[in-house]
Amino acid sequence: MQHIIDRFISYVTIDTESDPNSQTTPSTPKQWDLANKLVEELKSIGLQDVTIDEKAYIMATLPSNVEHEVPTIGFVSHFDTSPDFSGANVKPRIIVNYDGKDILLNEEKNIVLSPSYFKDLLQYKGQTLITTDGNTLLGADDKAGITEIVSAMEYLIQNPVIKHGKIRIGFTPDEEIGRGAHHFDVEKFGAEWAYTMDGSQIGELEYENFNAAGAKIIFGGKSVHPGYAKGKMINSLLIANDFINELPKDEIPQETKGYDGFFHVNHVTGTIEKTVVELIIRDHNKKKFEKRKILIEKIVKKINKKFAKKFGEDIAIAEIKDQYYNMKEKVLPVKHIVDIAENAMKSIGIKPIIKPIRGGTDGSQLSYMGLPCPNIFAGGHNFHGKYEYVPVESMVKAMDVIVKIAEMTALPNYGLSSKKK
Ligand SMILES: [Zn+2]
Repeated sequence: MQHIIDRFISYVTIDTESDPNSQTTPSTPKQWDLANKLVEELKSIGLQDVTIDEKAYIMATLPSNVEHEVPTIGFVSHFDTSPDFSGANVKPRIIVNYDGKDILLNEEKNIVLSPSYFKDLLQYKGQTLITTDGNTLLGADDKAGITEIVSAMEYLIQNPVIKHGKIRIGFTPDEEIGRGAHHFDVEKFGAEWAYTMDGSQIGELEYENFNAAGAKIIFGGKSVHPGYAKGKMINSLLIANDFINELPKDEIPQETKGYDGFFHVNHVTGTIEKTVVELIIRDHNKKKFEKRKILIEKIVKKINKKFAKKFGEDIAIAEIKDQYYNMKEKVLPVKHIVDIAENAMKSIGIKPIIKPIRGGTDGSQLSYMGLPCPNIFAGGHNFHGKYEYVPVESMVKAMDVIVKIAEMTALPNYGLSSKKK
């Protein structure tokens, strides 16, 4: 266990915060610091074909140790951390044999990680937790995933009695700014399917995520001196307001859960003559997702009709762009890849928690790029902030899941009961 702790700490103490405003890949040069270290480490534990490209995408191979043919599988995680909170000077704290009480993260600033607010903590009583010192995020998202993959590969190399096929591993930059999959060379990776180790609590297994689009609606107007505006002024701010009011009131993030979709207005800027409304559209169901986009267009059309005479041209213009899609469509035809992960967990005493992701993952993009890619827990909680923590026992279990998946994939019918294939 100490080995995993040391490895994890060696990663999180290197700042790899990504930057959405940067146009380069990786978005921040400091991501190279960890990327280069990982390359050396992968070589030193004995992996083969260790490569890093000019955009810092890392790949490596653990060769098969069986004679018969086994599909090549992959494990993927990202080494950047979220720009939502500082990742510089991470000073991890280790809480051995957690007693179930409040954890004082930072005495000076009185920052407390408390089970009365974060109830999940209680399930880790007696375990070893790694927390922040209250000044930074931890970076378990997703350096826990990297720790687990590297440790699992090392374990398989050291224990050749465990039989497995060829395994590819991939580490990416810039996942947190939505670009982790953008430059991922699926062909070069050459796996039949893969798993991202990027979920949260122990047991999580995800293969459904949102269909996602972003919309930008630009409203025009006519500015006239307000004292003499009767019949002349058109205030784009008020038209934008009408537009927002036409959206279904209860289909917003704070009123929805599970498989409910939503519209989320997240940015408005405006003057009399021009107002821009930005929103995101999310739905697990493809048909409902398409309907949501059509609704936006309908409302815009209605507004345009209303102002056609007065304004002379379309007063509102909608730009709708798809962002990512539900990986379920790509994963269901190869459902055994989920069954393998589910059974791997069960076989080592983990209760699988299978639920739809209310977001996207790199795996959803990879799935549409030809690499079906469900998401498995990496063990951390409260990502992207100072309350982030990870139980070491969960990291060990995640490592065991990787080993088990590798082992099952080399078995006849993947070790699944015959009906399941
Ligand atoms: Zn992540």
